[in-house]
Amino acid sequence: MFLCMIPYITTTTYPKTILKLTLTIFNMISLKIKPVEMKNFNLKLHQRNISEQDMIEDLIKVTKKLTKQTLTRIDYDEHGHFGATTFARKFGSWNKALIAAGLNLNCRINIPNEELFENLANIWLKLGQQPVGNDIIKPISKFSLGTYEKRFRSWNKALLAFDDYIKNPNIFNIATDKEVFNDPSPSHRTPRKINWRLRATVLIRDNCICRMCGASPAKDSSITLHADHINPWSAGGETTTDNLQTLCHICNIGKSNIVF
Ligand SMILES: [Zn+2]
Repeated sequence: MFLCMIPYITTTTYPKTILKLTLTIFNMISLKIKPVEMKNFNLKLHQRNISEQDMIEDLIKVTKKLTKQTLTRIDYDEHGHFGATTFARKFGSWNKALIAAGLNLNCRINIPNEELFENLANIWLKLGQQPVGNDIIKPISKFSLGTYEKRFRSWNKALLAFDDYIKNPNIFNIATDKEVFNDPSPSHRTPRKINWRLRATVLIRDNCICRMCGASPAKDSSITLHADHINPWSAGGETTTDNLQTLCHICNIGKSNIVF
């Protein structure tokens, strides 16, 4: 009886399952199943012999897309097809490419070194640690990595120049006439205002860590660091590195409430 049932199972119920499985495998093999995870992925392969015309057209296309009169290298790298460095290589410089495309030049052709260093200091203090080349991007940076590399010949040389700049002994004597005028004090030899170079020197010296609670933007991006007068300026304290310390914004507020 049992043996008699085998042909029945084989020819009716079982083949349907096998047929289903076979069709599924066939569909997979014949690539009827679309590779969903690859659908939105477009490789940007290195292209040789790109025509200047194609590059200019892409430059204009991105400028129009962003509804701007001109274009920065950072904006183009984010939205363009070729990469700003390719333009600099092909046309001699980024600005020459802009001219070739009939676009306005970026206003900032000769950015002073001091502004580049101040931007670098702001990034360093915001991150709570020394930035690497990949950190030099919008919105944390006002300028592109290419701007630093072009000015100083490499990122490492930019860092060395920055180090020289903020360690310059004149840092302590750069109270401008304006600062002194706004902050006259016969009882002090230094102005109350802490300029960005001195602030950067103190915070970097303290490894961007609050001296009271140990907080650092490197661990918590909501932390903002301040350079604080250890002996308050109002009590005769000077604006010098030995009288300045790093405090987070929370400890700084707490300390300012203490009456000396
Ligand atoms: Zn703190």
